[in-house]
Amino acid sequence: MIYLDHNASAPLLPEVFAAMRPFLEGLAANASSLHGPGRRARAAIDCAREKVAALIGADATGVHFCSGGTEADAWALRSAFRGATTDPGTLAIGATEHPAIRNTAAALTRDGVVVRELPVDGSGRLAPFTLASDTALVAVMAANNELGNLYDIAAVADQAHAVGARMHSDLVQAAGKIAVSVAAWGLDSAALSAHKIGGPQGVGALWIAPGQTLDPLVTGGGQERGLRSGTENVAGIVGFGAAAELAMRRLSTESARQAALRDELAARLLQGIAGAVVLGDAERRLPNTLSIAVPGVAGEAMVMRLDAVGVAISTGSACSSGSGKPSPVLVAMGLAAWQIKGALRFSLGPTTTAAQIAAAADHTIAAAKALQRLSQGL
Ligand code: PLP
Repeated sequence: MIYLDHNASAPLLPEVFAAMRPFLEGLAANASSLHGPGRRARAAIDCAREKVAALIGADATGVHFCSGGTEADAWALRSAFRGATTDPGTLAIGATEHPAIRNTAAALTRDGVVVRELPVDGSGRLAPFTLASDTALVAVMAANNELGNLYDIAAVADQAHAVGARMHSDLVQAAGKIAVSVAAWGLDSAALSAHKIGGPQGVGALWIAPGQTLDPLVTGGGQERGLRSGTENVAGIVGFGAAAELAMRRLSTESARQAALRDELAARLLQGIAGAVVLGDAERRLPNTLSIAVPGVAGEAMVMRLDAVGVAISTGSACSSGSGKPSPVLVAMGLAAWQIKGALRFSLGPTTTAAQIAAAADHTIAAAKALQRLSQGL
């Protein structure tokens, strides 16, 4: 299997599994227990909190563990508007946000929140915008999951703060792949997920800046500083910490290595598939992501054909694939129908090799040619 779908979910790294193992086998213990095993679990959670905080240049006290990026995004948005009964104000979101933001924003409109989408150009870059004076929260992702586009979060945060709004950023795809500093970027809150960087699925974190408040997500025993009650997922949190530490250590070497492989893949595909185009911002992109549109084929057909020869990729986004609906991100960019239909996403990871890239390119070119012939009735 040549796995080029790391943006959907990355394989659990062996080092991460080794760190989790003691908490999966036998007694994980309850981190609130006073006995030795309980204290050991608490210490492991505290240590993981430090490692996750370090990945984003933050103080560990702001890190609140939860079930993943979706929960963290939804928590941040709902908390910002909780209790605002009359005239809650405007929530401004980027047009390329993940459904975790987009669909939570849509749900908040039922509480009277006005949602404004900040438009993007044909490359998915944010177009210049002004914010309404009643803007309470701005949510713009640091890196897009479908295209790999990077956004100038510090500049957006400046604009948010200028109108007195808070700034939230979905760092799910950025953290561990590019250098992230919540302090330098001026963020008030940020969402993280473990399984995009070789950690386990079902674990993430919501970070809030010092002085910011957060509404309790789950009430109960008071875990996570009383903001998300429930016995902690010790093994998952430990795995998240291990993955964060590894990603940080490998960041510069891996980003250069994966960017070179990604560029090699793009060059081969553009040469081998007539009319193929790269989608997104060619200048400011995640090192591991390539989005490409193939003329005359359906992305789903390509994914299935490549799956049959052992190459795993995605159409625009794994989250919207299978829904039968066009990717809202590609639609917001105003792309041509064939580009939206034929969009493919290749996302690399630390285990991706040059040989895999060469083989994946050959398979992709062969599949595209075969499907193009079929669609032309040849
Ligand atoms: N935000 C972005 C940008 C993502 O790519 C994803 C996952 O696809 C999420 C949020 C959701 O994260 P999780 O799968 O941990 O809920």
